Amino acid sequence: MITVTSPLLPPLEEFVPYLEKIWESKWITNMGHFHEQLEKALADYLGVEFVSLFTNGTLPLVTALQALDIRDGEVITTPYSFVATSHAIWWNGLQPVFVDIDPVTGCMNPERIEAAITSRTKAIMPVHVYGTPCDTTSIRRIAERYGLKVIYDAAHAFSVSKNGRSILLEGDVATLSFHATKTYNTIEGGALICHSAEMKQKIDYLRNFGFEDEVTVVAPGINSKMDEVRAAYGLLNLKHVDKAIARRKEVARQYVKGLKDTKGIRLYEPIMRSFINREVQLNYSYFPIFVKEEQYGMTRDELYEKLKSEGIYSRRYFYPLISTFSIYKELPSASPENLSNANLVANEVICLPMHHGLSEEVVEKVISIIVEKE
Ligand SMILES: *Cc1c(COP(=O)(O)O)cnc(C)c1O
Repeated sequence: MITVTSPLLPPLEEFVPYLEKIWESKWITNMGHFHEQLEKALADYLGVEFVSLFTNGTLPLVTALQALDIRDGEVITTPYSFVATSHAIWWNGLQPVFVDIDPVTGCMNPERIEAAITSRTKAIMPVHVYGTPCDTTSIRRIAERYGLKVIYDAAHAFSVSKNGRSILLEGDVATLSFHATKTYNTIEGGALICHSAEMKQKIDYLRNFGFEDEVTVVAPGINSKMDEVRAAYGLLNLKHVDKAIARRKEVARQYVKGLKDTKGIRLYEPIMRSFINREVQLNYSYFPIFVKEEQYGMTRDELYEKLKSEGIYSRRYFYPLISTFSIYKELPSASPENLSNANLVANEVICLPMHHGLSEEVVEKVISIIVEKE
């Protein structure tokens, strides 16, 4: 069985010494030695100044809105994402407002953001879809003009940079997910990236019940701390992630070469561009293709099932759209007419198996099923 992702697992024998240290110290959670080390190592690796570790990639999104004091009103976001993006808004008692995407990148269309702004709008929560940077320049300009906060869901964008500068430096804050399915993982885990020591302090209180010191609670914080075992695992995995990303890039090249002339299969332009133009460094977290039924002669779902029958488990990321789930579908912004590109793309997309452990033979097999349709 070939799955769409496979976790980057550090060699077990390399992990044992870390575990021995933890057992020796008897410090297993609450900002221990490895926790501190991982925050520093990640800041260094990612090229950012302030990293706060979390127990997953969803709670940094929830906490970001609290750290930025967004207590009521609307947050403009995208329906073309993992459901956690909108849930973070919902959990803060705020109203998500969906806007349409650019069909080429899958990221929010800035013109649609501007058109959706009302007197109740407080923030914008865009997603760097598949690790492709949003149009951050336009989003910054809009945010400045209307006095809005920007929270980037960068769950897919670990290590992504533009002109040598980390994409995580964009916006007021950015969040990462270190879930097992992501390019870099700590089994479960995540981080919130910010740009001042003061903000990091606030975030660090919020992820630990709001404790400022032993006897002072300054905010209704939640418990979203990362433990020592996962911090150590993360430190070790950081040594292996470059090699994993390099292998992902080779897999992407092989897919592009094998699929680029297949009628009715649209490839993802940002990935193809990344082979020619080195301005944006991607991490090849996903390999989406878009099935044009009329030219290809098969629907997206037929191809999905065909692959499955051959033991290849692709994923329809992102389908269904967040705006179609019962929690959100009654919102005025959730109407399909408002989200025509998102609907189109969601109905055409398949993310093919993409991870560091794929062999050339397996990738070739996936390609030949798609090309030969049998
Ligand atoms: C994975 C993901 C999340 C949530 O991260 P978890 O670590 O699973 O909580 C949020 N947003 C996007 C876009 C994701 O892909």
